[in-house]
Amino acid sequence: APQQSSGLVGRLFGRGDAAAAEQPRRALDDEMLEELEDMLVQTDLGVETALRVTANIAEGRMGRRVSSTELKQLLAAEIARIMTPVAKPLPLYPRKPQVVLVVGVNGSGKTTTIGKLASQFKAAGKNVVIAAGDTFRAAAVEQLQVWGQRAGVPVMVAAQGSDPASLAFDAMTRAEAEGADLLMIDTAGRLQNRQDLMEELAKIVRVIRKKDPSAPHNTLLVLDATTGQNALSQVETFRKLADVSGLVMTKLDGTARGGVLVALADRFGLPIHAIGVGEQIDDLDAFDAEEFARALVG
Ligand code: GDP
Repeated sequence: APQQSSGLVGRLFGRGDAAAAEQPRRALDDEMLEELEDMLVQTDLGVETALRVTANIAEGRMGRRVSSTELKQLLAAEIARIMTPVAKPLPLYPRKPQVVLVVGVNGSGKTTTIGKLASQFKAAGKNVVIAAGDTFRAAAVEQLQVWGQRAGVPVMVAAQGSDPASLAFDAMTRAEAEGADLLMIDTAGRLQNRQDLMEELAKIVRVIRKKDPSAPHNTLLVLDATTGQNALSQVETFRKLADVSGLVMTKLDGTARGGVLVALADRFGLPIHAIGVGEQIDDLDAFDAEEFARALVG
């Protein structure tokens, strides 16, 4: 039976007639491509990426009549091509401890992601230590302690308002003494005063480099998928504040389709190490480019 026209691409074909023997077809002409581009922009791909994707689909196919299923396949392939190079798990190094600095605006899901990652690494037999580096937000520190308990991982905390860099140094000392495999350092996410935050992050990096010049080995930027195009400016901002090496995109379980991930991959090419798909400890998945592309196209 012919597929009902649905999802993003389906809209370009109208309702369709489910009882008809054949799927409706449309010519890949300027009008169709413009609609496709609009739809991709609405899906958060951004104008630049939407244009590029549309142009690639059009190349060598102008005037050809395609069904909704064919267009879906073309679009999914095009998106998978952009996403495949960035689908990479967090690289693990033999260095002990491997230091993972976690940055991002408040509310993006840093604390939750650290808890989920700690749990995964623990399950993989790694010895993990967490440092609650957002020393100004008491609630964040408490939350991190709760996550540490859930994951069965120690959380180093300091007095409220104390220097995050000195906590990071102490955490390095402890992680080294315990032969920990991984040290994850949470950081503040207040963008109200960027200069402050930049200095705070730079100082954390400076002190941990006194112990290990190659640290931090990863700087993870946590982004909330529901913020749509905002994620792009957050990457731009945080790349100025820290040496971002990879991304975790949270809240992909909700209404956010995650089209902004395509724009991010296209523009920055930063690896996507994991995606958050819920509030529970196991709700962190590896990023699968093909699956993502299929889901996005619908
Ligand atoms: P932080 O301020 O960056 O540390 O953010 P939190 O880790 O405290 O997360 C903020 C809110 O987002 C909390 O209510 C979390 O439960 C929620 N959250 C985090 N990650 C996810 C996710 O992947 N999916 C959903 N649905 N909620 C999430």
